[in-house]
Amino acid sequence: MRIGFGYDAHRLVAGRAMVLCGVTVPSDFGPDGHSDADVAVHALCDAILGALALGDIGKHFPDTDERYRGVSSLVLLRECYAMARERGYTLGNCDITIVLQAPKLAPHIELMRTVLAATLSCDIDRVSVKATTEEHMGFTGSGEGISATAAVAIDN
Ligand code: MG
Repeated sequence: MRIGFGYDAHRLVAGRAMVLCGVTVPSDFGPDGHSDADVAVHALCDAILGALALGDIGKHFPDTDERYRGVSSLVLLRECYAMARERGYTLGNCDITIVLQAPKLAPHIELMRTVLAATLSCDIDRVSVKATTEEHMGFTGSGEGISATAAVAIDN
């Protein structure tokens, strides 16, 4: 078994869609970035790549590459997981925490889990998605940004 950990953060700006775990959450602002800026999926990709000791998402999908402009990060996740499958690994479980002040994500968590489980072709009980605020402290608390962490276990 191997484990991996990922972290990502993005600036929040007006007029951007807030896509988290492949789900568009109603919001007047969203994460800025080259792709759809799905901070949760980026953290999960980094966790998978970390478990494989294959570097990070910026190495495999550079933001200077026009192929990835506006792309759904689920495409990147599929590619990262394919690298694990090619090496004989399957997902044990993953656990994501999204950190932002607003909006509340609770109504969307189950759909996020469903989308990730479908993308990874696994049972939903292997996919955990949680959300928290930092109680108005720091860059997530002020609404300046959003961050996410992800832990993953893969086994062969
Ligand atoms: Mg990112």
